[in-house]
Amino acid sequence: MEKILCPVCQVAFTLKEEREEGKHVTCPVCGAVLSLHKEGDSWVLHRPLHLTPEEEIRQRIENFARFRGYHFNEMKEPLVAGLLKKYERYGDFYCPCKIDNIPENVCPCLETRSGSVEKDGRCHCGLFWK
Ligand SMILES: [Zn+2]
Repeated sequence: MEKILCPVCQVAFTLKEEREEGKHVTCPVCGAVLSLHKEGDSWVLHRPLHLTPEEEIRQRIENFARFRGYHFNEMKEPLVAGLLKKYERYGDFYCPCKIDNIPENVCPCLETRSGSVEKDGRCHCGLFWK
């Protein structure tokens, strides 16, 4: 089956569900909620225009934590506020604890997606916990 690219984490995954214009799809890698669109002969995923930035990042981190079996603690709300501030200033949900606003640092960052929580018991900024 043809793979489809997640515009958030840049990983291509197999979409098992039926393809339908405007359908909401969750990236199995980063948990991003996306919408499916047909462009020419191919299907592409876009960031969800139906969600506010706060809904988008909350759904994404909840999905990601659920997929991996991670937990949140009292650091969650200040970090969500930090992510929203980064979004307002720099246009995406870059990790509030990292200086570089680069695609690898979009939450859940590459380091976290690569297993830093398993290794260290938490992600770099303490949003996701084992
Ligand atoms: Zn993704």
